[in-house]
Amino acid sequence: MKLTFKYPVYPTNTQETVLFEWLDHLCELQNSARHDRKVAWETEGERISCNDQQKKLKVAREKYADFREVPQDIQICALERTDKAFDGFYRRCENGAAKKGYPRHRKRIKSLTWKLRKYTKVVRPKTKDAPKQTIRVRQNPIRETAWKHDRLKVPKLGEVKIYMHRPLAGDPKEVTIVKKASGWYAHITCKLPDTPKVGPTDAIAVDVGTTHYLTTSEGETEDNPRWYRKVEGLLHKHNQTMARRKKGSKRWYKAVHASALHQERTTNKRKDFIGKLVYKLYHHQENNVLVAENLKVSNMVQNKHLSKSISDASWSKFFQWCGNIAERDGFHFHQVNPKDTSQTCSCCGIKSPKKLSLAIRTFDCSFCGMSLGRDHNAALNILFRAAAAHRGERWVSTLYETRNTPQKALGFKNANQLSLFDALLSSPLL
Ligand SMILES: [Zn+2]
Repeated sequence: MKLTFKYPVYPTNTQETVLFEWLDHLCELQNSARHDRKVAWETEGERISCNDQQKKLKVAREKYADFREVPQDIQICALERTDKAFDGFYRRCENGAAKKGYPRHRKRIKSLTWKLRKYTKVVRPKTKDAPKQTIRVRQNPIRETAWKHDRLKVPKLGEVKIYMHRPLAGDPKEVTIVKKASGWYAHITCKLPDTPKVGPTDAIAVDVGTTHYLTTSEGETEDNPRWYRKVEGLLHKHNQTMARRKKGSKRWYKAVHASALHQERTTNKRKDFIGKLVYKLYHHQENNVLVAENLKVSNMVQNKHLSKSISDASWSKFFQWCGNIAERDGFHFHQVNPKDTSQTCSCCGIKSPKKLSLAIRTFDCSFCGMSLGRDHNAALNILFRAAAAHRGERWVSTLYETRNTPQKALGFKNANQLSLFDALLSSPLL
């Protein structure tokens, strides 16, 4: 398991200038790497590997002085980034996707990464006669001090102030320095041993929505904070100020910065809310299985009446966090097919004959007479669907569906393999 710890860093003015120069250089490097690949692909249909580009980098470093000013580790990480983007592109070409998604030319980049190397350390024995021992150790990027700020070791730059508000855990592998509107940050990625999974005992299902952020299968709701809607007016104000000022002037840059700062704060609020919510879902009432829908958020955003609300709620982020926290703490999270969860009665399992529009907030069953909140009913359906998949059954709501729906369209693909939760968790649906 990998965990990334984020800390604020405070470079001096000189260090900041150097960092900006490096970022400009890396941007050019990435763009030229992209150009090389593009030419090779379009003229001869060839693929250039990351290794070839690293060899070219080595030559360039011998030739040009400005290449030597930037640490090689950082340059290699930038090339690997391009490589990753092209891997996706080549894969899409092979699959014959409609949108190939060509890696873009970048105007600027805002982060630089380097990997921490391993080196051989000689351990001096305590007694004189014992032989010397050598061990392989990974570099520690942090030098601890007795003051408030520790120091982050950056190659070729020296030591930068870092505020370690929480201790690092595990084996640090990679450091990324990111420039945001509010300042510089260091993201340190650490490798940790996997947490063993706890036995599944209590399950809870959630149905996400826009009226309430979510409704659980126990009928509890969480209000939607609507961060974007709240600050929409202010954002408009920022854009107005920007538009009035002369582009490229000092005052214009100030306005851009104010707007960027504002957006960063909104993102932070959203992240904070989602993190706390996921924690609450797992730890309140000791649930260790969380079930949600497998929504295609990118498709739903195309609905122009709902797109702003859906983007604001950032459900993808929420599902991602649910999965990540489950992996970190050894809980279980899985997603089920969302088809007809809000159109089916959770009591008798019969689908509503008429499609319920979003405006109808209660589900009234015409067969068994049950009346329940729309989202609560959907959450219960999600829970039952997961339980059916857990037992290895297919979840069928009507007789019509049994006859006419192919197996693969319903929830899980191979029901026999899914008799255990562990098997569920390793399925590609997650
Ligand atoms: Zn019913």
